[in-house]
Amino acid sequence: MVKISNTKLDKKSAKSLKTKFIFISGGVISGIGKGITSASIGAILKSKGYKVSAVKVDMYLNQDAGTIRPQEHGEVFVTVDGIETDQDLGHYERFIGEPIYKHNYVTTGQIYAEVLRKERAFEYEGEDVEAIPHVTDEIIRRWEVAGKNYDFCLVELGGTVGEYQNGIFFEATRIMKLRDPYSVLHIHVAYLPIPSYLGEMKSKPVQQSVRVLNSMGIEPDIIVGRSSVPIDERRKERVALFCNVDKTCVLSNPDVSSIYEVPVILEQQKAGEIILEKFGIKPKKQDLKEWKKLVQTIKTIKKEVKIAVVGKYFGVGKFQLSDSYVSVIESIKHAAWANKVRPVLTFIDSVEVEKKGAKDVLQGFHGIVVPGGFGKRGTEGMIKTIEYARVNKVPYLGLCYGMQMATIEFARNVAGLKGSNTTEVDEDSAHPVIHIMPDQEKKLLNREYGATMRLGAWDCVLARKTKAEQCYVAGGVIKASGKALISERHRHRYEFNNAYLEQLTSAGLIVSGTSPDGNLVEIIEVKDHPFFVGSQFHPEFQSRPLLPHPLFSGFMKAVVKK
Ligand code: GLN
Repeated sequence: MVKISNTKLDKKSAKSLKTKFIFISGGVISGIGKGITSASIGAILKSKGYKVSAVKVDMYLNQDAGTIRPQEHGEVFVTVDGIETDQDLGHYERFIGEPIYKHNYVTTGQIYAEVLRKERAFEYEGEDVEAIPHVTDEIIRRWEVAGKNYDFCLVELGGTVGEYQNGIFFEATRIMKLRDPYSVLHIHVAYLPIPSYLGEMKSKPVQQSVRVLNSMGIEPDIIVGRSSVPIDERRKERVALFCNVDKTCVLSNPDVSSIYEVPVILEQQKAGEIILEKFGIKPKKQDLKEWKKLVQTIKTIKKEVKIAVVGKYFGVGKFQLSDSYVSVIESIKHAAWANKVRPVLTFIDSVEVEKKGAKDVLQGFHGIVVPGGFGKRGTEGMIKTIEYARVNKVPYLGLCYGMQMATIEFARNVAGLKGSNTTEVDEDSAHPVIHIMPDQEKKLLNREYGATMRLGAWDCVLARKTKAEQCYVAGGVIKASGKALISERHRHRYEFNNAYLEQLTSAGLIVSGTSPDGNLVEIIEVKDHPFFVGSQFHPEFQSRPLLPHPLFSGFMKAVVKK
């Protein structure tokens, strides 16, 4: 056990208490990886034998992430129970290895919507409805629902401390601690810059952001310092002294080449033991073995494979971002590492393929992925990309829009259905091989956009002796005989048009998965190709660093062979 001189919690009382809440706030700048830090702490606590859940708080008035542009907010991650959330929930699932549910995503919009609903329903029985306690109580209620039946519930507070927008959530953490001091811990993740003209790491910004926390009545128990290089002892001492924590509680979280190193780095500094010690709890087991092995693999593999991800949400001003496809990118990495290769990813805007032609842009790649998307822009480039992959036998994996575009490509270029398209792009298409799902049409007409797509986990039955089936058997998800039932996460309004099923399959398209009633085509593939599979669902939401997704694994095996 590490010795902590300023343990603030009373260990004896702590033992009897239920779920422990660990709040994680950010300071100095945004985008410092609070999500990864939270997820890593989750992985550490789980490795010690505890049940861990994690919540993300977003300060937007949006009720979920479904109505926010990907370039604005990054990927929309979809949970099993079908809520469209922030990408950080994806990190939680990947690191903790457990599904995260609806209640684990909290936005200001949800809170206000519920408080206003209650007010209209006279549920406050004539009281003044106020930010405190009514809004804070609703926030706390949601956190408690998310934490129920778990030993630990991590709550990542979106934004940076001191912002006007997220203050009410900090206030809720303060109230929670006041009510139950032994169940609440606060971790502050803040940035220590090294200005190039000084060449020296500065701790003052962290001190100041902790001051802001203090002014809200919050004293952090642990400070995680983010920086480009590890924080030295001298700076740890400064932070400890000025921020009122023990030096052991100042943890260094430097930039690393792989995010999966973070649990190992934090655990080297005894993060797990410190947290448990603060709550007066003993570790049940201690085991980050598999993570350490993974980090070792990531660091040592040499052989490279070049993968092109051809999508449409990369550009933001002068910068190219890959945030819109985090889960896709991570899934490719998981599968590559499991196959002992290092993935070199290139992000290509499909519009570039339209301008320069597929050959110019795509030559030399060992594998091509077309991820999800919406709307017209860039779709012809995706179709050109897919044609290139099919004709040149480059392993191809199409995810949602990538599957729909592959269907269109096949219809146009193999089945000879000129003018094929999705009605999402061309309502008057000569051959609408992809069309809107019947129940979705009404929703769009009524402008019911929020949370109305086909969302969350749905079952799919695989056809035996197909590439897809082989992948799931190899991945141990289904047995080689018997019912081939899988469950995958969805987010779409359009689907394969069954009026073209006969024509397309007789031209050689293989339908390797459908919904259990057989009505919805879930997976397509083509013959005589090393790997050409498109799924209506998003396999990327269920890939884990320690357990890659079968379709990504199958794709990667073909890539490696190439
Ligand atoms: N735009 C398509 C649809 O709504 C695909 C969605 C996606 O790629 N997630 O069906």
